Amino acid sequence: VYANPIILNNDPTRKLGMVYLFQDVTKVKKLERVREDFVANVSHELKTPLTSIKGFIETLKGGAIEDKNVSYKFLDIIDVEVDRLNCLVDDLLLLSEIENKNSNTVYEYFNVEEIIDNLFQVLNKIAKEKNIILEKEIEENIPQLYGSYNHFRQMLMNLIDNGIKYTPNGGKVKVSVFEKDEKLVIKVKDTGIGIDKKHQNRLFERFYRADKARSRQVGGTGLGLAIVKHIVLMFNGKIDLQSEPNRGSIFTIEIPLDEKGLDKLVDIEDKN
Ligand code: ADP
Repeated sequence: VYANPIILNNDPTRKLGMVYLFQDVTKVKKLERVREDFVANVSHELKTPLTSIKGFIETLKGGAIEDKNVSYKFLDIIDVEVDRLNCLVDDLLLLSEIENKNSNTVYEYFNVEEIIDNLFQVLNKIAKEKNIILEKEIEENIPQLYGSYNHFRQMLMNLIDNGIKYTPNGGKVKVSVFEKDEKLVIKVKDTGIGIDKKHQNRLFERFYRADKARSRQVGGTGLGLAIVKHIVLMFNGKIDLQSEPNRGSIFTIEIPLDEKGLDKLVDIEDKN
């Protein structure tokens, strides 16, 4: 609440009354808080690998460089930390691009199955290392989607990649796609560690992790699901999570197809 006295003829002793201005600042304060938390989180996430890199360089300069084996070990660690920084900066740039609705975004028609096939090829190596099966179940004749191919691919990449990361050896990650009630439904299901109910609501926040130590170990930036949520919104879609600890998780995305009927139109044209 702001209160300003109304003063007559510039004479502070002659007050006419008070003007009260009521403003709801809770929303502003909340946004400010979110921004401050974000800056603090980014700084922390940048600082951790930088401190480690600096430490190893100093140890090398202090004499460790004389031992070739030790030097290579330290250089490997520095390499991993630089990769981590790179991923973090890439994710931050992507997030800001999506949030600012960057005008360079290319809009086009694309086929979801093609994206899934491409991602399975890219992710097959890390899945194989953990003996994880990648499986797909795609309904026939699903319509094409219209929007940013690159963003949609990134969204599915993050979900499938998480599925692999948070599933123990020998598990399965399955992607299914089907049409229901004028929507394209995409499910990414894994047989992994699952997520406790108490974390489920906050997982899509930037840098929120259910298990910090484990996430760091598997090499995530903590921004993957925040990026997913934003891309789903770009497509006017919805995302939902069902998960049970030690049983696995299902991320369900629904993308409306009725936007101007364009998706259907192209699908029909393709068949002619
Ligand atoms: P990260 O880079 O840490 O993986 P994300 O934003 O992609 O960040 O995910 C946020 C957190 O959600 C993860 O740290 C992890 O705790 C949890 N999580 C995401 N996907 C899964 C999954 N498929 N199974 C279990 N936990 C998951």
